[in-house]
Amino acid sequence: MIRLKRQDREESIGDSNIDDDGRQQPTPNLTQYKPDAKETKEWQGVQTSQALNVLQFCCLGGDCKHAQAATFMSTGKLQFSLGTDNNCISMCPVCRNRGRDWFKIFRRVYKNSLIKWLQSTLVQDAMPLHATYNNNGNALTDLLWNDDASLEEIFGAKKNSTIKKYHVEGLFLQLIAAQIFILKVTKKGSEMKWIFNREKQIVHANDTDGDEEDVVEEEYIHCYKIDKYWTGVSVYPPGKKRREKNSKKKKVATKKGSK
Ligand SMILES: [Zn+2]
Repeated sequence: MIRLKRQDREESIGDSNIDDDGRQQPTPNLTQYKPDAKETKEWQGVQTSQALNVLQFCCLGGDCKHAQAATFMSTGKLQFSLGTDNNCISMCPVCRNRGRDWFKIFRRVYKNSLIKWLQSTLVQDAMPLHATYNNNGNALTDLLWNDDASLEEIFGAKKNSTIKKYHVEGLFLQLIAAQIFILKVTKKGSEMKWIFNREKQIVHANDTDGDEEDVVEEEYIHCYKIDKYWTGVSVYPPGKKRREKNSKKKKVATKKGSK
């Protein structure tokens, strides 16, 4: 058996660069390739979209995860609202236990209360908010966790006894996956901040003088005001009644009064 010395081994690896005539060819330097600004932007776009797909698959509910994965594999697109025909019934977290397992983590919220809170000065003034998690109690999730009254209004249950920090974290993961909150990278690329996502929408279109040239007014609208952005976010069905807060006390008071 012939053992190669370290130096020989290194040379033998380089042998692949010797051409047919035995001449040494320069080793190609793969790091020399520098993508231009356009290519860099394109790649960043692809990577962002792939990362978002993963987040959406893991955090947004509403559809059987097996059906969603199968559709993704065949079409390359993460789709929602696939219908109940391809339901796995009990094998994925969305289907298992009639969806109750899913809502243990991604607990349902009252959408109107949540929108009201998102529109409050507390949240609006906090944006753009530093996205670095430094455990100082000023992270995005802390905005809601430290606002007891709104938290109980949004979840319809008591903080700490029923609503835990991971429920709030689950909610914000969904809001980020749904692109209601997005990350903004500062020009220098040194800081990342949370901002509200906005979409250009036609707010007014008319033809005032009948010359068939439409007057179109467009405006940037916060995405939490647009229904499609709420796909997969755990919200109670509209019209779901909140459990009366003081129902117990009232009963007691009636009993006392009847005596
Ligand atoms: Zn399923």
